[in-house]
Amino acid sequence: MEETIVTIKTIEKVTHNVLRFTFDKSDEIDFIPGQAAEIAVDKDGWRDEAHPFTFTSLPSEDYLEFTIKIYPDHEGVTNELSKLDVGDSLIIKAVFGAINYEGKGTFIAGGAGVTPFISILRDLNEKGELSGNRLIFANSEERDIINRKEFESILGEDFLNILSQEDVEGCAHGRVDAEYLKKSITSPDDHFYVCGPEPMMDAVVDALEKLNVKESQIIQEDLD
Ligand SMILES: Cc1cc2nc3c(=O)[nH]c(=O)nc-3n(C[C@H](O)[C@H](O)[C@H](O)COP(=O)(O)OP(=O)(O)OC[C@H]3O[C@@H](n4cnc5c(N)ncnc54)[C@H](O)[C@@H]3O)c2cc1C
Repeated sequence: MEETIVTIKTIEKVTHNVLRFTFDKSDEIDFIPGQAAEIAVDKDGWRDEAHPFTFTSLPSEDYLEFTIKIYPDHEGVTNELSKLDVGDSLIIKAVFGAINYEGKGTFIAGGAGVTPFISILRDLNEKGELSGNRLIFANSEERDIINRKEFESILGEDFLNILSQEDVEGCAHGRVDAEYLKKSITSPDDHFYVCGPEPMMDAVVDALEKLNVKESQIIQEDLD
């Protein structure tokens, strides 16, 4: 794929540290739900700093969307993204793999690791095929939960939240371990999609293996 320049249409706050950017869609960009792109800020000094971010819009939509957690202390790409305005542009350098939907299952996300699942679950919902899938979303605090209302609306009781740093009504308290998964998994023969920071992913995969989930059932991508 040729490098493509896309212009910011909207910027919206999703949580205290996550922004949603939308862009005009370019015909040169082709992706499937769950895929990511290497993106750079189109400003002097930043054009060679491409980092991966996942498309959270659907291929059928007439705009592109990315949902991006900002790390303001790092003076890196996400901090630079947070300074952009509508009308500024980004360079999309490559579209690549990440997580593909392979059939009904349990999606287990940590923080911004939910991004590939946003487009996969939206796509299934649009096709009327969401039933039988479940999302377990692990965060530190309630305020970190990305797209909570949307997930509640499309998944209902199949949307489970677990918070490591807060004990609040409607969310489990703790980490995603074997004990929690045993209570939360309803279809042990299904696929398990896991995406999040590497330590969380290792712990979740270990826990799944303790529950006799086969390696071939686990589809994973870390964000590090
Ligand atoms: C395939 C793939 C898809 C991805 N999709 C998305 C997506 O859709 N949305 C999204 O938000 N992210 C996504 N990520 C992660 C994203 O690429 C990184 O968060 C981003 O590149 C960080 O860039 P940076 O220059 O701002 O931070 P860097 O300086 O590169 O920081 C590197 C890492 O350090 C950690 N870090 C940064 N600041 C702090 C801090 N203050 N305290 C503790 N740790 C810190 C984070 O883990 C960060 O990722 C994806 C990653 C991969 C591999």
